[in-house]
Amino acid sequence: MKALVAVKRVVDANVKVRIKQDNSGVDLTNVKMSINPFCEIAVEEAVRLKEKGIVSEIVIVSVGAKESQEQLRSSMALGGDRSILVETNDDIGALEVAKVLKAIVLEEKPEIILLGKQAIDDDSNQVGQMLSALLGSGQATFASEIKVESDQVQVIREIDGGLQTVALTFPAVITADLRLNEPRYVKLPDIMKARKKPLVVKTLADYGVNTGTKLKTVRVDNPAERKAGVRVTSVDELVDKLRHEAKVI
Ligand code: AMP
Repeated sequence: MKALVAVKRVVDANVKVRIKQDNSGVDLTNVKMSINPFCEIAVEEAVRLKEKGIVSEIVIVSVGAKESQEQLRSSMALGGDRSILVETNDDIGALEVAKVLKAIVLEEKPEIILLGKQAIDDDSNQVGQMLSALLGSGQATFASEIKVESDQVQVIREIDGGLQTVALTFPAVITADLRLNEPRYVKLPDIMKARKKPLVVKTLADYGVNTGTKLKTVRVDNPAERKAGVRVTSVDELVDKLRHEAKVI
């Protein structure tokens, strides 16, 4: 069985982002970039399935700038076997990424397609769902447990009201939630080994995808500053403030 994992290069989760002076976007100068944390969980899950003897090959894919090779190498250090970078400097949207992934799925024919539940840069949470729609395949988003059987995969999903178990036939699109696993620390020998693993570079045109995204970023602003809170000394005072000052009850 083959697994394909989509990973995105994003600003590291520990970085406090700054907005460019012209409000055109986030300032990425000298900012640490990493694998999107949910994508790392997706890679780890594929590696665990390989260690259990269920998956025989893990292909990692990223769509983005040349520098995304760093995140592909890190994913291969975690245990991915080979990588495909679809290189573009354009600001492409979720639908374009899903179209590229669809073309790669049709070429590579993986049974299991793992993605993160969302990318922490734009919190879009769309690519997995769009990919499954384009493929006409089943989807299990927000996975917290994956059990592969011979002709299907059972996924426990985290939903608002609790947990939901779904069964999907192959190919199955699954997006990883936080509790699916805890990615391992990568060891130096694995980093060295990953340098020699195959990484092919393609273009959007190779997969027949146009860059002409229908989304345009108009302006990026910092969130509004929160006013300082006030301490109340009793429940009565709190109720009074909520009723007469905040006017919410
Ligand atoms: P999003 O829908 O943008 O929040 O992203 C959800 C997931 O889709 C990510 O965790 C990745 O697995 C995948 N994805 C999004 N953008 C890319 C990209 N540029 N390259 C590869 N995978 C991506």
